[in-house]
Amino acid sequence: NKQVVLKNFVEGFPKETDMEVKTSSISLKVEEGSNAVVVKNLYLSCDPYMRNRMTFSENPEFASYIKGSPIQGYGVGKVVNSGHPEFKKGDLVWGTTGWEEYSLIKNPQVLFKIHHTDVPLSYYTGILGMPGITAWAGFYEICTPKKGEYVYISAASGAVGQLVGQFAKLMGCYVVGSAGSKEKVELLKNKFGFDDAFNYKEEKDLNAALKRCFPEGIDIYFENVGGKMLDAVLLNMRVRGRIAACGMISQYNLTQPEGVYNLMNVVYKRIRIEGILVFDFFHQYSKFSETVLPLIRAGKVVYVEDIAEGLENAPGALVGLFSGRNVGKQVVVVAKE
Ligand code: NDP
Repeated sequence: NKQVVLKNFVEGFPKETDMEVKTSSISLKVEEGSNAVVVKNLYLSCDPYMRNRMTFSENPEFASYIKGSPIQGYGVGKVVNSGHPEFKKGDLVWGTTGWEEYSLIKNPQVLFKIHHTDVPLSYYTGILGMPGITAWAGFYEICTPKKGEYVYISAASGAVGQLVGQFAKLMGCYVVGSAGSKEKVELLKNKFGFDDAFNYKEEKDLNAALKRCFPEGIDIYFENVGGKMLDAVLLNMRVRGRIAACGMISQYNLTQPEGVYNLMNVVYKRIRIEGILVFDFFHQYSKFSETVLPLIRAGKVVYVEDIAEGLENAPGALVGLFSGRNVGKQVVVVAKE
């Protein structure tokens, strides 16, 4: 059983060498009377939050990975053996699994059954998985959007951002995104239908860039980045604007977080900033998938993935999130069905 294990706890930027590919043996049998299932992993998801679990922490709410054990994350797999009444051999599932060829999942509550296979299976790591629910709940529930509003999304071409932008367009909003390369900016405008987009790495003054894109200000900011970007956005929010605080990736590798200086704007402009944690919305998965599947089938929402082949390339794919190497949702293919 080939596995990607955590070799060192990480400080600063993660490196490929903080992980290592190893081989160990695993029994594909499930013990008599056990509820466990054994899953053959097909696709693994690279997600920014995984960086936080690579740092040593004693917080039981957000446990760190165990050194020498496989990295845990979201993935898509096929059940090869099951002691659980709700799962049987051959079922396709998505949920929390290990970065390895086969995983013994002792607590199958972390798994969702896949009922629709007329869309790519890898989508259950992205548009139909955790990032998809994040974008859907974050936009519709936290941002309380209205037609015609001005929406700004940072890290806009990624797993979450590309969807938020398309949901906002479907709602009839004016949508601008930022991303870190020319290629990503083109994708935002030409593939995802954003009204405008800019490469934040080429802007000397983020405040000026936002003023140029939003002369009348921003009603909704979908926050993926934090730091200097959040500070510039605060200067450009409109009265009664909303900020969905989804993530702050620019801060994850800093030993000392950057300060945010323009918070008084929250007072002057009566801005609502609300955090979102996707776990709060997993119980709405059926409602979410019933909304999004028809949009995918009708071509009203598209999804761009960046596929890395093989477990050997998984550490590089994960680390690449922090330099923006991924174009779209970063997926690792472990095996084809
Ligand atoms: P992405 O697919 O967007 O990948 C990460 C992207 O972030 C990179 O491609 C890069 O794009 C950008 N990035 C990396 N470092 C920086 C930096 N220092 N400054 C600015 N941008 C940077 O990831 P996701 O869509 O999966 O996640 C987006 C955000 O949503 C993250 O903050 C993540 O933690 C958060 N999240 C939160 C959840 C929740 O429940 N709250 C659930 C899921 C995600 P670029 O080239 O544009 O710089």
